[in-house]
Amino acid sequence: MSELAATAKKLDAADELAGKRAEFVLDDADAHVYLDGNSLGALPAAVPGRVDDVVRRQWGSLRIRSWDESGWWTAPERIGDRIGPLVGAAPGQIVVGDSTSVNVFKALVAAVRMAGEGRDEIVVDATTFPTDGYIAESAARMTGRTLRPVTPEEVPGVLGDRTAAVLVNHVDYRTGRLHDLPSLTAAVHAAGAVAVWDLCHSAGALPVGLDEHGVDLAVGCTYKYLNGGPGSPAYLYVRRDLQDRFDSPLPGWNSHVEPFGMRPDYEPATGAPRGRVGTPDILSMLALEAALQVWDGVTVEAVRAKSLALTDFFLECVAQYVPAGRVESLTPAAHEERGSQVALRCEDAGEVMKRLIERGVVGDFRHPDVLRFGFTPLYVGFADVERAARVLGEVVAAQL
Ligand SMILES: *Cc1c(COP(=O)(O)O)cnc(C)c1O
Repeated sequence: MSELAATAKKLDAADELAGKRAEFVLDDADAHVYLDGNSLGALPAAVPGRVDDVVRRQWGSLRIRSWDESGWWTAPERIGDRIGPLVGAAPGQIVVGDSTSVNVFKALVAAVRMAGEGRDEIVVDATTFPTDGYIAESAARMTGRTLRPVTPEEVPGVLGDRTAAVLVNHVDYRTGRLHDLPSLTAAVHAAGAVAVWDLCHSAGALPVGLDEHGVDLAVGCTYKYLNGGPGSPAYLYVRRDLQDRFDSPLPGWNSHVEPFGMRPDYEPATGAPRGRVGTPDILSMLALEAALQVWDGVTVEAVRAKSLALTDFFLECVAQYVPAGRVESLTPAAHEERGSQVALRCEDAGEVMKRLIERGVVGDFRHPDVLRFGFTPLYVGFADVERAARVLGEVVAAQL
């Protein structure tokens, strides 16, 4: 056994989260290493049974009674409160539903409306996942504001009394860089603007502290580190003291104070339900609820500690196994700037990832030259990490 393999064995033996892996449906660890949980989380074992019950009994047998008797109607806020502790939000501030793209729209337009008429600029993270940028551009056009795309590092320098709202990603989806949420939020507030955070690549991987840091609005998806399944609904956080000022650009009947009053005039609900739009997607929402059971007894702090240990160990193994100069890490070495993934720049990255997948190491390729590996502490172990780096070294050496 190599020295790194022996180290992996020791680290796995001391890992307090190691038992969590059994709560997921995964291939035999000797055959596959799944490092794409930052794109689509693995299937929690509790989900198939729950979905079967929801479909056969709740829908098939109880039918319309389930809106009440099976708790369908209240699911968006109930599940929002289950996500709350993972992102540092007290109950009553998160609603689950719609996609992240739709929630970015709701949050950003509502943020501009909160900021008031005098402020005519929206600042957006220029390095963002494309959908956030597209939606921000449309939101700016619709609200008559100017869009100002800058990198997160440049944000403090462009803030001023013209700034209405700022949309930033907590972790860069491409490089894995973690941005400084507390200090950026404070800078946005000092300028009198509204901070909107996208948590897609941080929720479930590291502490966010929404309440603690006074974040105004936040959105995130649930199919990455929260393992909700393909297309599972996203969530919207509106800080409690801003809820009465949340003026949704999509005021659907589900967000009405009296949805079954069927009134012609719109009057928004109070609290988190104000973030709803239309009928919730119950099947995927309840699959998500079952998926969130894997968090029982787990603290985000423990997840973060293991995540950093995994990415540190991966970088160490890559340095040892991959021929010098063949890959270059785009992910910051400093822990306070690192999310839960490692991005390696590599010539022929597309071809290299194809070979890796053939050999059972699943990460993903980001155009044009990035290999991306996501580390999900609930089901990835240190032996997986050692193996992934070893296979990467072999694949890259064979490509020379
Ligand atoms: C994954 C991701 C999304 C996904 O948006 P969908 O509407 O769910 O397709 C959006 N923004 C960021 C930053 C993401 O990482």
